[in-house]
Amino acid sequence: MSKISNWGKYPVVAGPELSNPAYIPAPGEGSWIPRGMGRCYGDSSLGETMISSLKLDRMLDFDEQNGILTCEAGVTYEDLLATFVPKGWFPPVTPGTKFVSLGGALASDVHGKNHHKEGSISAYVLSFDLLLPAGSVVSCSRSENQELFWATVGGMGLTGMILRLRIQLKAIETSAIKYHNIKAGSLAEILALFDEFGQATYSVAWIDTIAGGRKRGRSILMKGEHASKEETKGSAWEKTPLALPKKLPLTVPFNFPSFALNPLTISIFNTLYYGKQLKHQKEGIMDYDSFFYPLDAIHHWNRIYGKRGFTQYQFVVPREAGAEAIETVLKHMKKHRMGSFLSVLKLLGPSSGLISFPMEGYTLTLDFPIKKNLFPFLHELDEMVKGWGGRVYLTKDVRMQPAMMEATYPGVETFRALRREIDPEKRVLSFQAKRLNL
Ligand SMILES: Cc1cc2nc3c(=O)[nH]c(=O)nc-3n(C[C@H](O)[C@H](O)[C@H](O)COP(=O)(O)OP(=O)(O)OC[C@H]3O[C@@H](n4cnc5c(N)ncnc54)[C@H](O)[C@@H]3O)c2cc1C
Repeated sequence: MSKISNWGKYPVVAGPELSNPAYIPAPGEGSWIPRGMGRCYGDSSLGETMISSLKLDRMLDFDEQNGILTCEAGVTYEDLLATFVPKGWFPPVTPGTKFVSLGGALASDVHGKNHHKEGSISAYVLSFDLLLPAGSVVSCSRSENQELFWATVGGMGLTGMILRLRIQLKAIETSAIKYHNIKAGSLAEILALFDEFGQATYSVAWIDTIAGGRKRGRSILMKGEHASKEETKGSAWEKTPLALPKKLPLTVPFNFPSFALNPLTISIFNTLYYGKQLKHQKEGIMDYDSFFYPLDAIHHWNRIYGKRGFTQYQFVVPREAGAEAIETVLKHMKKHRMGSFLSVLKLLGPSSGLISFPMEGYTLTLDFPIKKNLFPFLHELDEMVKGWGGRVYLTKDVRMQPAMMEATYPGVETFRALRREIDPEKRVLSFQAKRLNL
């Protein structure tokens, strides 16, 4: 038995992690759950037995004409980028880290900085093969086993293990990103910028969750486009337009003591971050790693939260409720002295899978160290989010209660019914699914 935890380092469980899906536990031998790179934050890929997809790492076929890749589900974004960027292809949707498997990404139906315009990963997956809880393998697409297709995308591994998939990649001329950062002095200003630049392919805002008064919600909007060859003239990309970024990552060598992150250090970080861009606007060209994966430049950054770990609270609320919801949450955090070190605001587009997270509106991510009173505080936020017609992202969750899930995910009953049909003995089960009665 080894000790296993996901990115939030909470909870830590003892359990075998098996590396071959051919050896799923037999009936009566307990439950299992697929696991990829363990980049979900909580207990979505933790269970009695974890079945790792990481040995399923082969690229099986590539249609160079149309950019359609067939690969196994343990292939990571890191592998995909290293192989296909030099050929002029990019993942159509990418989360904020490249250390994620494609199977894991599909199981969370991940969204990127382009969700408002281009949707989530499921929009680009043409088909996949699924190992069902009872052990047979079926092929799923929009025309074959559709119910299973829509339950599996965003289904958190609970319909079985995705073994391989076909995915449409995005053509790029260069590996550079044309970026444009704009400072917003308040919440009203950043929401207005999201409206004004709704046509940008990629957009995301870093938001200061500490500043109060007129500065509450001050942010930096970062938008970007894949740069064309023409746009990179005169830069390093002119000679090698599809070069891979070459930066050596730093590493946080050990868990920080738990007092290292406190309201004061969080406040100092937020002030420095806002101040690091001196001008109101900044434009230029940067490599895709710096734009999409800035946190990957520091390996094990989760250690700054100390041994007790942390959780990310990510919620979405409908667009109309955005201003009131974000302001109320920021005030509530201040009142309870719950600072978030790094927080991100994004615009999402329409929903996709049966229990996928995205819905049209604003999504805010907040990182909190695990400490006393945190979960009661987050349960209070749940009630507010529910009231605004929003919901919380399962892949970041570690403590939500079934009533919140039922009230905020309209597809959950259909999802449960399908699970009863394909897995009456609940052979596939994560600790999260057990907690949420999925
Ligand atoms: C720094 C950071 C930034 C992130 N940014 C974003 C973001 O911008 N947008 C976003 O949407 N998410 C984001 N995430 C979350 C991350 O993309 C998801 O949690 C993703 O699912 C993790 O994939 P994984 O391979 O690590 O899978 P795991 O974390 O191991 O598992 C996640 C879920 O997928 C299931 N699963 C894994 N493999 C399979 C498989 N082969 N078949 C079926 N089910 C499977 C598991 O059972 C579990 O329910 C971020 C995470 C981090 C740490």
